Amino acid sequence: MRILVAGELNPDLILSGCDALPEPGKEIFANGYEWTLGSSSAICAVGMARLGNEVAFVGNVGTDQNGDFCLDALRREHVDISQVRRLPDRKTGMTVSISSRRDRSLVTFLGAISSLTAADIPAGILARHRHFHVAAYYLQSGLHDGIRDLFRRAHDAGLTTSLDCGYDPSESWDSGLIGLLEETDVFLPNEEEIRGITGQSEPERGLQCLDNGRTLLVGKLGSKGCIAREGGSTIRLPAFPVNVVDTTGAGDSFVAGFLHEWLRGRPLHASLRFASACGALSTEGVGGTGSQPSLGEAEAFLAAQLEREEAKCI
Ligand code: ADP
Repeated sequence: MRILVAGELNPDLILSGCDALPEPGKEIFANGYEWTLGSSSAICAVGMARLGNEVAFVGNVGTDQNGDFCLDALRREHVDISQVRRLPDRKTGMTVSISSRRDRSLVTFLGAISSLTAADIPAGILARHRHFHVAAYYLQSGLHDGIRDLFRRAHDAGLTTSLDCGYDPSESWDSGLIGLLEETDVFLPNEEEIRGITGQSEPERGLQCLDNGRTLLVGKLGSKGCIAREGGSTIRLPAFPVNVVDTTGAGDSFVAGFLHEWLRGRPLHASLRFASACGALSTEGVGGTGSQPSLGEAEAFLAAQLEREEAKCI
C-alpha cells in the first residue's frame, strides 16, 4: 500500500518514569531519558512502514544535526525521504516530553515545522500514492491555507485522505478544521482534542457534533480504548491490558494500525481492534517508534488477546 504522509519532523527528548508532571517552580526526577525520533507525522509514518506499507514523507527540516538525525531514523525504517526539504535558514523543530505512566506534557520548538505549505506537495507526488495522511494539523500553520484544496486534489487523483489534528497550543481549536473535514475520509482526534473542538466532555456526544455525514470519525481514548462513528452509529472498544512504560506516540501508532487495516477494506470493528493492538504495544517501550509492532507482532498480540478473551468466557 503506497501511503504519503505530510507533516512535521523533529526529534523528541523524552524524560520518562516521572511520578507526576512537574508543577510550576518545582523540580521532579525522571527515571531515564531517550533522544529519539519524534513528531506525530513521522511516528505514524514509521508505524505504517513497520507494518509493511510503502511510505513516503513530505516535510521540512533544517540543515543541522537534528535534521540529519530525523532523516537517518526515517531512512533506517525504509520511509522514502526524497521529498523532505532541508532549509538552511531554519532550525529543525524539537519536542521535550515529560512522561509519567499516566500522561505526558510536551514543549515544542516549531522551527522548520511551520514552513511546510500545500505548494510543497505537487500533483505529481500525490498521483504516485493510494492514500494521503496529515498529522499535527494545528502545528502546521503553513498548511492551513491550502490544505482543503490539497485534499480535494488528492481525491481527484484517486487517493483517500486522513487527518490527525493533534493538540492546539493556541486552544482556539479552529484553523478551518471543520471545513477541512468535508474533504477528509477519516478523522482521528483524541479525547482532549474532541473536547477542545466540540466543547463536549463526553466523546460520544463530541463525535455526534463532528458528524458531517461523510467523514469516518475515530476517537482515541487512551487507557479507556477507542470510539468510532460511521453511518450515524457509534461503536466503542476497550483498550488491551498492557504494562505501560511511556505513552508517547500511542495515538500515532494506533492511527498507523487503523489505516493499515482500513485501507485494505477490513471491517470497522476489526480495524479498531488492530489499531488498539498497535497503540497498546507502542506504550510498552520509551519513545514513539521504539516498540511499534511489525505486522507479525501485532497479529501475534491479537491472537493472544483473543485466546485470553475466550478463556474468560469458558
Ligand atoms: P494520543 O497519543 O493521540 O493521545 P491515546 O493516548 O488516546 O492517543 O492512545 C491511542 C490508543 O492507544 C488508545 O485508543 C488505546 O487503544 C492505546 N492506548 C493508549 N494508552 C493505553 C494504555 N494505557 N493501555 C492500553 N492501551 C493504550
